[in-house]
Amino acid sequence: MLKVVKFGGSSLADATQFAKVKDIVLADPLRKVVVVSAAGKRYPGDHKMTDLLYLIHAHLQYGFSQEEIVRIIVERLTLIRDQLRVDYAIEEDLSRIFGSLSKDISIDELVSRGEYLNAKLMAAYLGYAFVDASSVIFFGYDGQLDTARTYQALQDAYTVHQKMVIPGFYGSLPNHKIKIMSRGGSDITGALAAAALDAQLYENWTDVSGILMADPKIVKDPKAIQRMTYAELRELSFLGASVLHEESVMPIKLKHIPLQILNTNEPDHPGTLIDEKFELEEDQDDRFVTGIAGRTGFYVLTIYKEQILADTSIVRKTLEIFDNFHVQIEHITLGLDSFLLTVSSAQIRDRLYDVVGKIQSECKPDTLEIEENIAMIACVGRRMRYRPGISGKLFSALGNHGINIRIITQGTNEISIIVGVESKDYIDTVKVIYDSFMG
Ligand code: ASP
Repeated sequence: MLKVVKFGGSSLADATQFAKVKDIVLADPLRKVVVVSAAGKRYPGDHKMTDLLYLIHAHLQYGFSQEEIVRIIVERLTLIRDQLRVDYAIEEDLSRIFGSLSKDISIDELVSRGEYLNAKLMAAYLGYAFVDASSVIFFGYDGQLDTARTYQALQDAYTVHQKMVIPGFYGSLPNHKIKIMSRGGSDITGALAAAALDAQLYENWTDVSGILMADPKIVKDPKAIQRMTYAELRELSFLGASVLHEESVMPIKLKHIPLQILNTNEPDHPGTLIDEKFELEEDQDDRFVTGIAGRTGFYVLTIYKEQILADTSIVRKTLEIFDNFHVQIEHITLGLDSFLLTVSSAQIRDRLYDVVGKIQSECKPDTLEIEENIAMIACVGRRMRYRPGISGKLFSALGNHGINIRIITQGTNEISIIVGVESKDYIDTVKVIYDSFMG
């Protein structure tokens, strides 16, 4: 039995944060596998270690001196070591990494050192083994994760060490060169370790007490979501809630491992628990909307043709055109004599006239209308299925506030209702939905 615990950059920004992490890890004997990010910001305006490393690389490429940045990094990490009195001769690693920098250094190698050094510090501080990610996370030459090899290596490492710290964010290619993941990739490393070792729980420690029910920039002090399913997480992330990346959830979701989002600065807060499903929950909480997410900046194309349902080939052809232009469609609504496609502006802006021209010439619709500046808002909740009248409540709340709904769709799994409104009504829509269902 074990838990994999991953700590993000703000949980590792300085010695005080390291000390909090140690308390958390040692408080539960099941927290045997620790995955760390690089040091994050200590205060607004501070720099993340990973950004500083990218900056060094850029300086090297353009022939600027990188010495000042190296000095900042060396001082910061040495200070953590000294303040925690950790028995780790970090100077040796620092001079090996930064002593002979050249223009030709691989960016992946250099940028991964933030996690590498933090993991070494943390391993020495906890008295856990340091296991380099380059020896347990493997990619193929195509850049894709080699899951079988990775899982085997993680299992082997765990058999040997039992208690270990692994740097997040990188692994190695078949030629032993370092390859980094996308930004925030330590979440993926943690999920891979949890999946490989069949952990009973994957804890992801951050600086917020769980996932919030709505964007705090719009709703004042939104409540945290206590429990949500992977399906709900997916719906919320799809419309832009800044939660975990799909890639970092997939490995644990496949193995039915629950994920808990927790706050290093408030360790007793239960945060958000995400799982495949929850038993016996109907009577535990009468809130049936889990969260709200949305985004502005959509285009809506409405294509009219009489009797579409009798001959749907126009729909097929239109979808093919979008596909050929590599434009991803976010929503489709089909009616008797028309259908409507929602596309994000970023996707279609440059290709709008080409796409529309092609639809006109190949599909010959009766008319085609384009609306810009549409916002889409998803109201997500697994328990909406069991409750009649939720859409009614939602629509009348918006109507009472004079918000005109342009589009309505419901997810086929009935766990989300999505409304499209004019972008100017976006903020009010989120607020009204929050107040009606969560307030
Ligand atoms: N340190 C990397 C970043 O800033 C990866 C991570 O934190 O997960 O994106």
